[in-house]
Amino acid sequence: MIVSRFAPSPTGGLHLGHAWSAIQAHDRARDHGGQFLLRIEDTDMTRSRPEHVAGIIEDLEWLGLGWDDMAVQSERLALYDAALDRLRDDGLAYPCFCTRAEIAREVAASLHAPHGPDGPLYPGTCRAIDPATRAERMASEAFAWRLDAGEAARRAGSLSWTDELAGTMPVDPQLLGDLVLKGKDRPASYHLAVVVDDAAQGVTHVVRGRDIMPSTHAQRLLQAVLALPEPIYHHHPLVLDAESNRLAKRHGAPTLADWRSEGMDGVALANRLRAGDLPGGFDFDG
Ligand code: GLU
Repeated sequence: MIVSRFAPSPTGGLHLGHAWSAIQAHDRARDHGGQFLLRIEDTDMTRSRPEHVAGIIEDLEWLGLGWDDMAVQSERLALYDAALDRLRDDGLAYPCFCTRAEIAREVAASLHAPHGPDGPLYPGTCRAIDPATRAERMASEAFAWRLDAGEAARRAGSLSWTDELAGTMPVDPQLLGDLVLKGKDRPASYHLAVVVDDAAQGVTHVVRGRDIMPSTHAQRLLQAVLALPEPIYHHHPLVLDAESNRLAKRHGAPTLADWRSEGMDGVALANRLRAGDLPGGFDFDG
């Protein structure tokens, strides 16, 4: 049975791009008698707001999308801690004491700082700290937990994922470097929580925007070292605005809540999107 999910972060209002993503995830399951899950990804406690959770629920109902189950990540932190314990026990996670400023200084001082899709990668400063110093610093300093991506890649061997649109995608296990698993003030990182939940909820099909594809490299690596099942992926084209920007609040994209309050018919909008007909001023990126 197909199990798909829509997994928004409640850090703002949903816009047309989110609607398009939710519709595709919903229909992927519903067209085959499967299950569609809603997952609220609120482990970024400083940016997540309860009013956005309420807004997401209203938006999905307005679009005529019903879900079979809803999970809230902030209520599932024990699961992410258990996965982190496992990585730690396997020697694949290390504490990182660096501040943002220290990382920036280190990167600036390095001639060959490796870069990922979002800028310079963590230079691995804390990976080499000796065990005694590490234990001492853990007793007195704040720290995050990072993945030792090099060691994880060595143990995982060659990986790929199956993408319904892009085909077989080889994994670059170092694309995001030694990513954070648990932050100094974030109980679980997006990557850790997402792979734990996709497995725990039996998600078979991860339907989400193409913009998240770089994360899939890191997520496949985590799945491999945590011995989690591998879902099928479907990274769909994005909705762009008239200036060919991805929709985002900073570009002034209208929210679904704006349209809802203007009396627009959400189910009619969803059906237009299904027919490939976008409202004026919007386009697909391919
Ligand atoms: N929570 C992520 C976001 O809102 C999406 C995660 C996913 O679909 O894997 O961008």
